[in-house]
Amino acid sequence: MSTLATELPLRRAEIGQGTVIARALPHREKRMIGAWCFLDRAGPVQFAQGKGLDIGPHPHIGLQTFTWMIAGTLMHTDSLGSKQLIQPKQVNLMTAGHGISHTEVAPQTETELHTAQLWIALPDAKRDMPAKFQHYPQLPVIQQQQLECTVLVGEFLEQLSPVEVYSPLVAVDFCTAQSASQATRFKLNPKFEYGLLLLTGDVQINGQTLSNDNMMVFSTGTTEIVIELAAKSRVLLIGGEPFESPILLWWNYVGRTEQEIKTAHQQWLAHDRRFGEIHDYDGQRLQAPTFPTHMRASR
Ligand code: MN
Repeated sequence: MSTLATELPLRRAEIGQGTVIARALPHREKRMIGAWCFLDRAGPVQFAQGKGLDIGPHPHIGLQTFTWMIAGTLMHTDSLGSKQLIQPKQVNLMTAGHGISHTEVAPQTETELHTAQLWIALPDAKRDMPAKFQHYPQLPVIQQQQLECTVLVGEFLEQLSPVEVYSPLVAVDFCTAQSASQATRFKLNPKFEYGLLLLTGDVQINGQTLSNDNMMVFSTGTTEIVIELAAKSRVLLIGGEPFESPILLWWNYVGRTEQEIKTAHQQWLAHDRRFGEIHDYDGQRLQAPTFPTHMRASR
């Protein structure tokens, strides 16, 4: 049986220089889905050359950033010296662990962007690990009649994604080309909670239209789902076991105590070595917002 879905409204937010995104996580009523603690949909959007996304150097701790590119390209650079262009159908995974800083910039000739940007909270045993960066140019794809299922993270339909994560998680991109798909039934893991985000087009979940303005959430205990896509449509499914503990998420940091977050904040302000250096970025590093007077852990 499938349990009832909850729909949570997305929020509009601005990232980089004027790029407006729809934010699904964290949500006031649902901070995390498994270890997934942040989910933005950027685009689809078109822009003039030189007017694309430009996010200057900024720090992270305690999380992995996960980028799934649908259209357009972005250049990733980080304080480990990584420099990687990400293209459609590819994943960039940056494990911040103890600390890293990075930039994300659209190439000068780029004119479009469509991407899902996610963060994964690291479990306690891994959250202080050394930083690393991994690029995945190809993910497993399963054809189910008109439906193309790309396994971004974890296991789905007996295909295993190579993306290295540290908690029980899944992410699948479902899309159609010129033809609509049949209503297709998929087994889910009842130990996982799930979220569904429309990326483009028109999608029915269990016979119900998935609004472009909402994320659909399923609690643990859900054993199956029916997905039906119109032509040229795309939907993202994420899921995972409820996270091991509450987390604190402030600005670009994931921690467990306010003191840890404060230490990272002060180190970034002080240009501490923890976050390294990025050498070939033409512009300012990002300024942290004012440190809050009170933080509450949640999941
Ligand atoms: Mn970042």
